[in-house]
Amino acid sequence: MLSAPIPNLRNVAQDRRKAGSRRSQIQLPYCADMADPALTHTALDDDAMARDIAELIRIPSITGSRAESQLQHHLADRLRQLGCNADLWQIDLPTLTSDPHFPGMEAERTEAWGLVGELTPPAHAAAVHDPTVQNQNLQPDDAPTVILNGHVDVVPPGDRRLWSHDPFDARDATGPDGRRAVFGRGACDMKGGLVAILVALKLLRENGYPRRGRVLVQFVVGEEDGGLGTFATLRRGHLGSVALIPEPTSCAIIPAAAGALTFRLTVPGLSAHGSSRLDGVSALDALWPVWQALRELEARRNADAGPLFDGIPLPFGISIGTVRAGDWASTVPDRLVAEGRYGVRLGEDVDEARAALVDAVAAACSRDPWLSDHPATVEFFGGQFASASTPVDHPLVRQWAVDSA
Ligand SMILES: [Zn+2]
Repeated sequence: MLSAPIPNLRNVAQDRRKAGSRRSQIQLPYCADMADPALTHTALDDDAMARDIAELIRIPSITGSRAESQLQHHLADRLRQLGCNADLWQIDLPTLTSDPHFPGMEAERTEAWGLVGELTPPAHAAAVHDPTVQNQNLQPDDAPTVILNGHVDVVPPGDRRLWSHDPFDARDATGPDGRRAVFGRGACDMKGGLVAILVALKLLRENGYPRRGRVLVQFVVGEEDGGLGTFATLRRGHLGSVALIPEPTSCAIIPAAAGALTFRLTVPGLSAHGSSRLDGVSALDALWPVWQALRELEARRNADAGPLFDGIPLPFGISIGTVRAGDWASTVPDRLVAEGRYGVRLGEDVDEARAALVDAVAAACSRDPWLSDHPATVEFFGGQFASASTPVDHPLVRQWAVDSA
């Protein structure tokens, strides 16, 4: 997922500090009772966190693999150890994939598991003096449910010869900035984030939180190929007031994310023996005008991305990830299939985004002598998700901007 940091939130935080603002003055109806400075100042155990990240990396939870399920079971145990009620369930894939709002799936799966941990106020919470509860005069029904969501799947490690070590045997080493770092597939996206959630739960529990409301931890599969895990979790009824997803953002607050549509481009050619290739039409050559049209479309769609995407050179990229053409080395390829990822602009209707891609390919074909009679086709499959955003002046976004400044 490509997301947008909002640099101006830093300025919001600075303005508050200049004005002498205090945390207690910020109107934050959703989680004021969790904004305890003592929590953020608690010393973190770097060694324990590094061990935890390495342990999660050792479970090679590539999207759609059995290890994805294995990691969900492992994390269910961790949630229970941290005092959470854990809902671990096998997702009914046939029912889910037939839902009209199903976001898509690309990996082959025979099973998938959902996992939600719930942290509720400890038994003694009513005795804890908490003026924010009285001041806000909240009724039990108004108590917030704060969701912490993280995906357990990782993408494949690519060419293993380019790794200095086994990508699933995490190494504790020094990063490019000279600071301690853990290296391995998924260390950043997002097993580090999963451990951050576990640490947050531990600190909340040790400090007697939440004092009202609930914290829901959603550990989800299938984020990398469309988002079926979060979709299944919401369909099961695990909803909340606000959600935080600790994806790797270098600690930037990201209230907006582009959408993405997976597409397949099929380009026809004309078969001939390679010794007389001029008798045929290479589908590889026929791709070229379509490729150029995609680049031009990409440039147009990224020309005015809006202020939330300042500093991001290509927020709505069009990228071809796989290309297959031909079936014999000495034969001119008569068919090329390319699959890629197409960025959706913020707030853009998904059907309109699809139409823009289809129209651009059709226009390119109409200008080409071969493709005008044998046009390339576009299909959409797999992950299909819209853009999303939270208003930058939402109290939770402003609160986190203050906390992270
Ligand atoms: Zn991620």
